[in-house]
Amino acid sequence: MSTILEPGQIEASAVMPPFLHLPPANLFALRAARLEHLAEGNALGDYLRLIAQLCRVQQQLVDNPPGGLPVAEERQRLCISHGLPPLAADSLVREGPWLVWLQALLMHFDSEASGALGEALQTLRDSDDSQRKGWGIALLAGQYDAVPAALVPFIGAALQAAWSSWLLALPAPELKPAGSLAQCPACGSPAMAGVVRNRGKHNGLRYLACSLCACEWHVVRVKCVYCESSKDLRYTSLEDDRHAPGKAPLRAECCPACESYLKQNYLENDAAAEPLADDLASLALDIRLDEEGFHRLAPNLMLAPG
Ligand code: FE
Ligand code: FE
Repeated sequence: MSTILEPGQIEASAVMPPFLHLPPANLFALRAARLEHLAEGNALGDYLRLIAQLCRVQQQLVDNPPGGLPVAEERQRLCISHGLPPLAADSLVREGPWLVWLQALLMHFDSEASGALGEALQTLRDSDDSQRKGWGIALLAGQYDAVPAALVPFIGAALQAAWSSWLLALPAPELKPAGSLAQCPACGSPAMAGVVRNRGKHNGLRYLACSLCACEWHVVRVKCVYCESSKDLRYTSLEDDRHAPGKAPLRAECCPACESYLKQNYLENDAAAEPLADDLASLALDIRLDEEGFHRLAPNLMLAPG
């Protein structure tokens, strides 16, 4: 089916790419399947499978939310009209409506684990809401040394499930760009990775995927999302014989001006790529870029760095 556009509309659509790309309602099921696929032959296979198991629980929670949208319509409208993220992570993490999501996650997660994983689960189950809230606040503030590393994926999973569910419950969000290119317009959290999309009205455009709510927002290509420089950007991928030069499905946009980088998935080269899963499966690229002196500013809430 095609739509005939008037000249004015053609110009408008040419200069105004859709600002948002919202995740599908089954985002965590897709992520779990992708992680299980990437786990095959990966040095971190067991870890990727554990995260996949957590994603399946996240999907259960999104399908049967333990709590509703914590932001009243009036507050949503006020935020949006002032250009503020309606699901602001820094205030909502303190207000604590996500704690019931963590409790539900702990109830759904298969508790037969032993060893370090079993200990982490026991620590979480024994903790009270004020302790849990403190870990959540620290994690979203990037203060990883204030959260035991083994707890990070569980706290991160609960936070993500809550925020993604709230994002999907927002009535047709008309969000405006945040103050910084790398900041989510829905919740104000930093981007986790970029995705160059390959379908429909989003074809060929770059979106940044939120580390917390999985909202994606448009940012022009070939521009550092941190310092906005376009000069001498370099695109680095892992050496891989399976891909022709320039056809790697995951490349890091490295900026020599601010010495930062952001990974990007190119869906035209691998349509099944999923930002969080493919990020975790390519930690070797982070190690290499770290050795080359580049800094990673993008959090992945399922992994404590280092
Ligand atoms: Fe977000
Ligand atoms: Fe830069």
